[in-house]
Amino acid sequence: MRCKVKRVYEGSDPDKFCHFLKENRIVAHLQDLSNTRSSMKIYNYPRDTVWVNEDGDAERALVLIPAFESSLASHREKLARQSPWHCSICLEFIEAEFDACWQCGTSG
Ligand SMILES: [Zn+2]
Repeated sequence: MRCKVKRVYEGSDPDKFCHFLKENRIVAHLQDLSNTRSSMKIYNYPRDTVWVNEDGDAERALVLIPAFESSLASHREKLARQSPWHCSICLEFIEAEFDACWQCGTSG
């Protein structure tokens, strides 16, 4: 069975994108020279790249990039907002990583 690989992502969080693709049932690899067969000519690329196996997976992966980047952005926003908050409705104390009140569901 022939295995074609295609580079689909290059950026600051290739490991997270790799994981994101796996959650979407796409087999993805970070560039890892220790697993690279000599027939794969990917040596000239920087290390921070994500590869998928087939043309079909590559197309799906490319479609998923905007969703990945927006989820990354919202994750960073959450991390930036480190301090816990109080629900404005029931005054419950909410940890920073939660968007909504666990008590009454009000969004912070
Ligand atoms: Zn509440």
